[in-house]
Parts: sequence; structure tokens; C-alpha cells
Amino acid sequence: MEGLRANSEERIANGVPLLDKYGRDIHDLRISITDRCNYKCVYCRSGNDGPAFPELEIADYLRMVRVFVGLGITKVRLTGGEPLLRRGLVEMVRELGAMRTLDGRPLDIAITTNGHLLAELAQPLKDAGLSRVTVSMDAVEPQHFARITRVPNGYERVLAGIRAAQKAGLNPVKVNCVLLRGFNDDQIVGFGKFAREEGVVVRFIEFMPLEEDRVWSPEIVVTLDEIVSRMADFMPLREIQHARSETARRYMFEDGIGEIGIIAPVSHPFCGQCSRIRVTSDGKIRTCLFSVREHDLAGLMAEGASDAKMADFIRRAVDQKEARHHIGEPGFVPASRTMVHIGG
Ligand code: SAM
Repeated sequence: MEGLRANSEERIANGVPLLDKYGRDIHDLRISITDRCNYKCVYCRSGNDGPAFPELEIADYLRMVRVFVGLGITKVRLTGGEPLLRRGLVEMVRELGAMRTLDGRPLDIAITTNGHLLAELAQPLKDAGLSRVTVSMDAVEPQHFARITRVPNGYERVLAGIRAAQKAGLNPVKVNCVLLRGFNDDQIVGFGKFAREEGVVVRFIEFMPLEEDRVWSPEIVVTLDEIVSRMADFMPLREIQHARSETARRYMFEDGIGEIGIIAPVSHPFCGQCSRIRVTSDGKIRTCLFSVREHDLAGLMAEGASDAKMADFIRRAVDQKEARHHIGEPGFVPASRTMVHIGG
């Protein structure tokens, strides 16, 4: 580790792909293409605030991605805000589909969406080159779903979106559910049944302090251990192997039907295996969800920087990637943006 740290300037100068000073290989780029969202999920947004940051032209994001890919990025996830609101999305995915990794393979292209507009867009996105889709969904009961999102009739649309994604071949569709104690933890078993009936991988995510209303407390987090134990009331889960770089722990129901994932950044942090870097809708690099400072790549681009200069800037940002987050520790400093404005 010490050697890696001492050599960071040397690595920057020699153009080694994106390895940070802790030896983590950064190959996963998450890019927010809009700060707007058509849902107002109560645990994410205050309900009063609209978009806070501007959007760039799609061509600007594409140029940034090209530079990142030239440095070793192999996975690109489009997010927001709500990425399906962005005009030009299908063409953007087509352009991403034409890019090649350093070893000549197509990029792994994914989208995280609330699914509200997915029924119409799943097939065009698949045809354009999308590899995978993750749909966020925090309740399996329509009324509960509407109370969370503050949008009527969303549940039916999202379900139609999930089914359209499956039909288009974007399999396995992943469904992400953020659990908050006393709010939607009564949905755990319902989501277990949903995974089995709909043939999706349901992934529970521990709630992190990234919400506009700042209501987070350790007690509100429903932990991995608790999810596994509460699902056992319905049917026991058995853990299956997951790749080291995968953030989710994977489980099958004991009868082999239905997969559940649990992403546990609070109770079982995985910062040591983090391979991610983020770009916000206004073109700022964030090296961690919990970063308190950003690196203005769009600003540099606007000054007319060459690709080589942008690449150097990205390397230097990666070199400052935080060792880990400090959720729940005394003196925790909140991130400089909340989740919807970072791009989850
Ligand atoms: N609109 C898209 C969607 O709904 O998936 C993309 C953006 S949304 C901010 C991305 C993900 O972040 C969603 O799954 C959402 O549930 C999750 N999220 C929002 N606030 C969170 C928090 N405080 N902790 C954990 N996950 C959160």
C-alpha cells in the first residue's frame, strides 16, 4: 500500500490505467445525465426542491466518456435524476454502443431508472446497445408505492416497464429497493415473492445519509442481517458466490427459485473493493458518494482542454479518491450533494 501511495505521481506520469493510491482499479463510471426527476420519493427528496444543477449537451457527456474509456473504464451506467426523461437518450446509448474498451470489447452499458417511462423505451434502448437495466422500486403494494413516490398510478407503469425490459431481453432485470425502518420494511417478504413471480433479481439497499431532508439515523437502517432473518419467516435464503468487485451479496431461496441481493454499505461497507467514479449532470467528477469536493471536468472542457489534458485531470482526481466513507461515525461530514443530485 505504501509503495502504491509513494508512486502515485509516477503512475500519473506514466499513464497507468485508473488505479488509485490504495490499489483499487477504477473501471466503473456512473454518469448523471439530468438532475430532473419525475418522482418525489419521500426518503430522497424534500418534495419542494426541483433540479439544482444544469445539464450538459449529450455530446459533452459522450466526449467525457470517450476519455474515461481511453483510461480503462469498461462499465458505464447512466443515471440521474431520472435518465429516461432526457431527450436524446437512445442516440446516446447507440454512441456508447459503438465505443470499445482498451482491450477492444464493447462497453457494459447500464441504466438506473424509476421505470416510469420504461415500457416505451426498453426495446429502443436494447436495440441501441443497452446491456442492462436496474429499476428502483420501494414497495410492491400500489398504494404504498404511490405514497412513497408521490405520483399516482406509478406502480402499474413501473411493472409494465419491468416486463417490457424482460421482453426486450434486458435480462436479468434488477429491482432495487431502499428499506427504511417503520416505512417500507413491511414489504420485505412481498419483494421476496415478487422476485420469484416476476423473475427479477430484487436487491435491497441499506439507506444512506444522502437524502434532502436529512432524516437519516442508524436506527432507521434495516441491515443485511435483519433482511436475511426476516425473509426466513417466508422462506430461508442461502448465500451464493459473488464476484469480489460486486457490491451486492447474493442469495437464492432455499428451493432454488428467486434471487435476492443485499447491498449493505452501512453494516458491511465495501469501500476496499470500490471500482467507481461518478460524473454529475453538470460535469463534475465525484470520487465517492460521500465526497465533499468535486473536480470540474466540464469547466476544463469549456476552456478548450484537449483529450490528453482531460485524461490527466481525471487521473489526478482518481488519485484523490477517498479511502472509505464514514457513515455513522462521530464527526461524519455529509456529502456536498444529496443522492438525486449526484446520480445514484
Ligand atoms: N431516478 C433513477 C432511479 O429512480 O433509479 C436514478 C436516480 S435515484 C437517486 C438512484 C437510486 O438511489 C434509487 O434506487 C434510489 O432508491 C436510491 N437512493 C436515493 N436515496 C438514497 C439513500 N439515501 N440511500 C440509498 N439509496 C438511495
